[in-house]
Amino acid sequence: KTHVYVKSIEKTLEAGRSAIVLVPELALTPQAVRQFRAHFGDLVTVLHSGLSPGERYDSWRRTRAGDYRIVVGARSAVFAPLSDLGLVVIDEEHEPSYKQFDDPPLYHARDVAVVRARTVNAVTVMGSATPSLETYANTQTGKFECCRLTERVDRRPLPGVRIVDMREERRLGRFSIFSAPLADRIKDRLERKEQIILFLNRRGFSPFVQCYDCGHSVSCPHCSVTMTYHADSLFMRCHYCDHRDQAPEVCPKCRSRSIGYRGVGTQRVEEELKERFPDARIVRMDMDTTSRKGSHQDIFHRVLNREADILLGTQMVAKGFDFPNVTLVGVISADTSLNLPDFRASERTFQLLTQVAGRTGRGELGGEVIVQTYAQGHHSVVSAQAHDYESFYARETNDRKALGYPPFGRMVGILFQGERDEYVMREARRFAELMRKYGAELSILGPAPPVIARVR
Ligand SMILES: [Zn+2]
Ligand SMILES: [Zn+2]
Ligand SMILES: [Zn+2]
Repeated sequence: KTHVYVKSIEKTLEAGRSAIVLVPELALTPQAVRQFRAHFGDLVTVLHSGLSPGERYDSWRRTRAGDYRIVVGARSAVFAPLSDLGLVVIDEEHEPSYKQFDDPPLYHARDVAVVRARTVNAVTVMGSATPSLETYANTQTGKFECCRLTERVDRRPLPGVRIVDMREERRLGRFSIFSAPLADRIKDRLERKEQIILFLNRRGFSPFVQCYDCGHSVSCPHCSVTMTYHADSLFMRCHYCDHRDQAPEVCPKCRSRSIGYRGVGTQRVEEELKERFPDARIVRMDMDTTSRKGSHQDIFHRVLNREADILLGTQMVAKGFDFPNVTLVGVISADTSLNLPDFRASERTFQLLTQVAGRTGRGELGGEVIVQTYAQGHHSVVSAQAHDYESFYARETNDRKALGYPPFGRMVGILFQGERDEYVMREARRFAELMRKYGAELSILGPAPPVIARVR
């Protein structure tokens, strides 16, 4: 993939034009800059919000003056003041981090890139092993052209993915966070002095209700996103349309009584891990352990230098890192990401499982992936296991079409905020009423409280 980017940049420079390279995370920019400087030397600069104002201004000014011809950075680099822009590269185009959704200006860097490129007759090259539904749809309609790279680097085979059915574990009377197959593999790797990545989805975590026997989780009858469980009131709530329901005592699908609130945190996993493997050296990579500048790199080096046996982390561990000695990847629970209250939950899960699987099998030793789940038959899990993109996209496309979700419909989120609940809710309701009255052709959901209802 990097090779394609480098070749495209070479052609662009030959034509006397310039290039922007977007990467999904600030943490990945140093690595990318190093790679591109190796080819293009001083023509490369960095531009992103992680720089100090001085560094940023300097880079911006010299880019504008034409000192640099290649700008590498996270999403805001899409606005780099390059003249004669000929190419925009978007690496891992499916990453949600390309969307700025918190601080204005709100934009999606991928969409901005496509529009900016079109206005100056430049080419956009997007790379991804798991394209977003939006991009995939654009290749189907012929708006984007699709090129497939069918061979892995060094022709290494894709790692084997094994799904562990957690319902079966419970039936056998095993209630640990770690299933017997996963625990066995961890023990085996520790003995062989090979490394392990354990993956737990925590970002945007929200509690949900799931059946331990059949794996069914309760979703909204109107929006089909998973309902969020509110322990204080014992109610479940849809964060799209505000549909509410009492948490069921028997599973609506299989009538089992083993239905309950679900969710595990990184800390609990770490505790149990320490208990069961007291000699293992464990590092954790999540929001709490990486807030300090450079901490990503520290953790990265500790794993690379084999000063740690187990890397335990959230989404961050799924991205871009190459650890040749990692021969086992364990996904603690595919269910947490499957049950995010978001219409993209299935897509994200498929992408995550595929990506984490890509974190192993990078060296001579090969690799193995174990995914624990209660929702064994879910199409995200099944397709990820089979490395079967086509069937995942086919199924997901149908679901989205049926419900009118993007890319087959457009959704606009309108956020109301204020200091007093009643006031915010009243105004939101008033606005919704007006929209219903004057926007007859629109379908309006809510108002509903957001997933994170309170700041501070
Ligand atoms: Zn059930
Ligand atoms: Zn709903
Ligand atoms: Zn809520």
